[in-house]
Parts: sequence; C-alpha cells; structure tokens
Amino acid sequence: MTHHEKSSRLVSRVTVIFPLHNEAENIKGVVDEVVTQLATAGYFAKIVLVDDGSVDGSLEVIREICSAQASVKYISFSRNFGKEIAILAGLNECGDDFDALACMDSDGQHAGEDLLNLLAAAESPTVDMACGVRGDRNYQTGSQRMMANAFYWLFRYLSDTRIETGVGDFIVMKPHVVKTLRQVREQNPFVKGLVGWIGFEKQLVPIKIRPRLSGDAKQSTSKMIRLAFRAILSFSSLPLRAWSVLGITSALLAALYLVFVVIQTAVYGKEVPGYATIVVLLLGLGGLQLLSIGMVGEYVARIHDASKMRPLYIIKSKNL
Ligand code: UDP
Ligand code: MG
Repeated sequence: MTHHEKSSRLVSRVTVIFPLHNEAENIKGVVDEVVTQLATAGYFAKIVLVDDGSVDGSLEVIREICSAQASVKYISFSRNFGKEIAILAGLNECGDDFDALACMDSDGQHAGEDLLNLLAAAESPTVDMACGVRGDRNYQTGSQRMMANAFYWLFRYLSDTRIETGVGDFIVMKPHVVKTLRQVREQNPFVKGLVGWIGFEKQLVPIKIRPRLSGDAKQSTSKMIRLAFRAILSFSSLPLRAWSVLGITSALLAALYLVFVVIQTAVYGKEVPGYATIVVLLLGLGGLQLLSIGMVGEYVARIHDASKMRPLYIIKSKNL
C-alpha cells in the first residue's frame, strides 16, 4: 500500500493531546510509548499534555518530561475543569503544525498501536475523522455498563444528534475538523456529542481498552452522572417541551371527566363523592408542576452560565 511509504503520506505531522488529572505515575510511560510508536512508524510527533488541576505532583513530572523531550509541550490549569474542557483547551492551544490531531487518555487505557491504526484510517483523503470504537465494555462494572446503556438510549431518544455506540474520546481529526471544534463556545461542553453534531465523514476503527496503569479512575460516578445530565441538556430541548404535551393531556382528561361528572349527576342524580379524587389530582398535578418548573430551571441555569461569558478554562502555566 502506498500510504505506508513516507514520501506519499498525507499524514506525517501528528499532534497528540493528553488530558490528565492526577496521573503522576502513568504519564511518563504513556508518553514514552506513544512517542516511540510514532517515531518507529515514521511520524513527526508533538505531544500536548493538559494538566487539569492535578494535585499529586503530575506537573513536576510533566516539566521533567518536557525538559528531556523538546517535542512535548504542556498547559496547566489553575484548578480542575474536567476532561471535556481539558480536551477543548488542548485543541485550542496546540497550534496548527499538524496533519492530524489525536486525543488519548493518559492512564494507559488507550494503546499506541491503536493510535497507528487510527492514523492509517486518516490517510484516506475522504476521511475527516477516525474514531476509536471499543468492542466491549468489559473494563466497566455491571452497574456502570447499565448506566452507560441507559444514557445512550435516553440520548438517542431525546436528541437529534447521533453518537455512535462505543465511540469514546480516542479520536484522530484532520485540521479542518479541529478548526470547526475550536469555534465551540459552550460553557458545558460534551465532546462526544459535539463530534456527532459537527458531522463530517467518520471512519470507525475498533480499539481495545486496556486496564488503567495505576490509580483509580478519575472520572467518578458522580462526575459521570453530571456529564450525562450536561450532555442531555446541551443536545436536547425535549425535556423542556415535553411538559406542554403533558399539560394538554391532563387538561383534556380534566375536561372529559367534567363532562362525565355533569352527566352522572344530571341523569342519575347521584351525589358526587370525590374526596379521594381531589387529593390524588392535587398531589399528582402539583408534583408535575414542580417537576416542570425544576426542568425549566435547569435550562435557565444554563442560560445564566452562558450569559456570564466566563472563559472556559484558566491556564496557570504552560510552555506552548
Ligand atoms: N481526566 C481529566 N480531568 C478530570 C478527570 C479525568 O483530565 O477531571 C482525564 C484522566 O486523567 C484520563 C482521562 O481523562 O486521562 C480519562 O479519565 P479516567 O481514566 O478517570 O476515566 P475513564 O473514562 O477511563 O473511566
Ligand atoms: Mg481511564
């Protein structure tokens, strides 16, 4: 195949972004693996480490790596902003000297050889992005898998944006895709959703997910739930509009019931006992009303967030 010959390659300069939060023990090994693999395969590599407010000495390790290898650069946030924002910061700050840009986890779960497969897929001129797809979710516990499945089901049901099952944040993008993503100015970004939303031609490439090198997942269950919530709120307005349907339905039911009661009294002369009915209706409708106000509140809170126009992240130090 011609695209394995260096001279006719479409992709030769590769920038890899690593978001990281408290990965002091993993980051050196992960960077070394990727740098070695890319060099062996004949790519010119640049590494961008995004330190997302680590408090375990990751920044010292990063500085050591950078002073030993000129091709490794870093940005360090003033506090933890979350993985999604770390990825977007990497995209914004990494410069333009690449033919393809990759995002990878910095805990060793994504493999260097899979990166080469993604890059090979990006060789095709018609492919705008190559997305790693995991075959199974064996690396997750049963309850995590159940929650993930429930989330994808809900997202697909509520939003027009398509996200492929199994696509994660291990992706390779061509420069025009990166430029597109740089235009995103959202306070609560959800990268996977944005990748689906921008469109373009995607090639899905099967990848494996290895066990994490050391430490525990930094993406805790509560962070995941918050991310799921954020994802649905920013890609669907159905939770906001669904209430009108419920309102109309209950109003119609009420009207029908009124007719029924009037006829019952007029024709059969029966006394109307309705105490229980009233209590049930009162509680039911009251609950629905509070829920709908709460839902509207969630969206208003997003508008409030957006109207403050704060920067998405704050950089404390960098060598880029
Ligand atoms: N990460 C980050 N900021 C956070 C949480 C996680 O940059 O607030 C990074 C983390 O260091 C890792 C990647 O995001 O490189 C994936 O996180 P993790 O391994 O904790 O979650 P997983 O998705 O593997 O369960
Ligand atoms: Mg991980």
